[in-house]
Amino acid sequence: MCAKTSPTIVWFRQDLRLADNPALQAASRGDGGVIPLFILDDADLDDADDMAWPPGGASRWWLHHALAALSLALAEGGSRLLLRRGPAATALDRVIEQTGACRVVWNRCYEPAAIARDTDIKARLTDRGIDAESFNGSLLFEPWTVRTNDGQPFRVYTPFWKACRARTDGLAAALPAPSALTPPDHWPDSDTLAAWRLLPVAPDWAAGLRATWTPGEAGAHERLQALLDDRLARYADQRNRPDKDGTSGLSPHLRWGEIGPRQVWQAVQARLENGTLAGREAQAETFLKELVWREFSYNLLYHFPDMPQRPLNPRFNDFPYRATDDALLRAWQHGRTGYPIVDAGMRQLWHIGWMHNRVRMITASFLVKDLLLPWRLGEAWFWDTLVDADLANNSASWQWVAGCGADAAPYFRIFNPVLQGEKFDPNGDYVRRWVPELKDVPNTHIHRPWEAPPAVLDKAGFVLGQTYPHRLVDHREARQHALAAFEAVKQPAADTARLVKRAAGGRR
Ligand code: FAD
Repeated sequence: MCAKTSPTIVWFRQDLRLADNPALQAASRGDGGVIPLFILDDADLDDADDMAWPPGGASRWWLHHALAALSLALAEGGSRLLLRRGPAATALDRVIEQTGACRVVWNRCYEPAAIARDTDIKARLTDRGIDAESFNGSLLFEPWTVRTNDGQPFRVYTPFWKACRARTDGLAAALPAPSALTPPDHWPDSDTLAAWRLLPVAPDWAAGLRATWTPGEAGAHERLQALLDDRLARYADQRNRPDKDGTSGLSPHLRWGEIGPRQVWQAVQARLENGTLAGREAQAETFLKELVWREFSYNLLYHFPDMPQRPLNPRFNDFPYRATDDALLRAWQHGRTGYPIVDAGMRQLWHIGWMHNRVRMITASFLVKDLLLPWRLGEAWFWDTLVDADLANNSASWQWVAGCGADAAPYFRIFNPVLQGEKFDPNGDYVRRWVPELKDVPNTHIHRPWEAPPAVLDKAGFVLGQTYPHRLVDHREARQHALAAFEAVKQPAADTARLVKRAAGGRR
């Protein structure tokens, strides 16, 4: 039998914050104690299941520090974060049994495996007379509420953006952190964070991550403040420039819910309304549009739950990618393709667990269209190495670049890594930062060192093929192969075999 004063469990998942956390607020308003709980779901770590997507190495690093920060913030308010491991349903049952909790609350997740798990848990708890309630803490709008006029999910971004924009004035104000969390009569035991071994041991590859990021709610608000005070007013002008600090760097904080999109939206909106951005409103509007790309990805994942595994455009099921080539894949992963902007991006990713959006597009296009390797290989590498690895954003973006997704870049639009580098890193600062062996190559050749006269390379102490690798492929030729491969999926099946042969170009 449930007493009015029995405690409520707040099951934290991807909402590792105290402010604007609807589940935590709901728990704090009850009469009983509040038990904050995080479960390291063993199913999340088991990659045997194609749908499970266990967190990659960089995500595990982030999670460790995010949980430490949340734990500290709760302790400062006289509460605690209880850590348990195991299948979520079993771990929850155990805490319920040990505490007599009669209510469990959480903010919703939208990954297909999480939806299935949570639906099952909610039904089981409800059957046993335990109140189970879920909230929206991660999105501006629930995916099932944004639909076209004829009730279909959006597949095109611009009308999706307009539909969201028409509703943003009606967003409820972001919630403050609860003023107090009543502790339960007794605290059940907790795992220790260290025992979960989320951090790398040897080799310790996380130095660059430590130097770059401050996981946790306070770190998220520092990033937001820097955006508001500085970057927002020139966001549209600089967001495509990897050589500038032009974007917010909020993505890992949003991924782990250390800040909610509603908080970000309303903070930007407040700046628009108080006149501090006079004459620069369009810069802020561009930022808001990017935030809504995140909503769009979640919308797609919700309506097309196969998205991380299968092309949204079924014509691409039979795309004639090259048979997996470990050497090519490794060269791409480790930033040794011979294309400076691609290599800079891949090394930035490895060192700090993040890559600039423009360079994500360039490196992804290079993998899929220049190397003709399947987009899922890139999706998996990003999943393991990004601190912001997010199933919705990652799979939607990879499909966008590969040309097989919703509202995707047309397949035949193929990024030229040299021209992209020259346009978006005009002085080569980004390349020099991440590919130091190119630091003395002059600007005119920094994005195409193979064209530099020998005297120029000698002066820079640079030997192509030794100091820095030769190009894996010639972009012009690779582009032709990619276009031929694309013809294969455009054409009726009878033509496919011939075109596949042509696309492979004898390189398989
Ligand atoms: P800002 O420019 O400051 O944007 C603010 C926020 O808006 C971001 O934090 C992010 O939440 C959202 N946003 C911005 N651009 C996009 C976009 N194109 N799609 C969806 N949301 C966006 N983003 C992830 O969060 N996780 C991923 O796993 C991820 N994988 C990607 C893979 C590829 C191949 C590509 C091309 C893009 C990927 N992105 C991913 C989207 C984008 O690159 C990052 O969100 C962005 O670079 C994060 O930097 P920021 O926070 O400074 O962005």
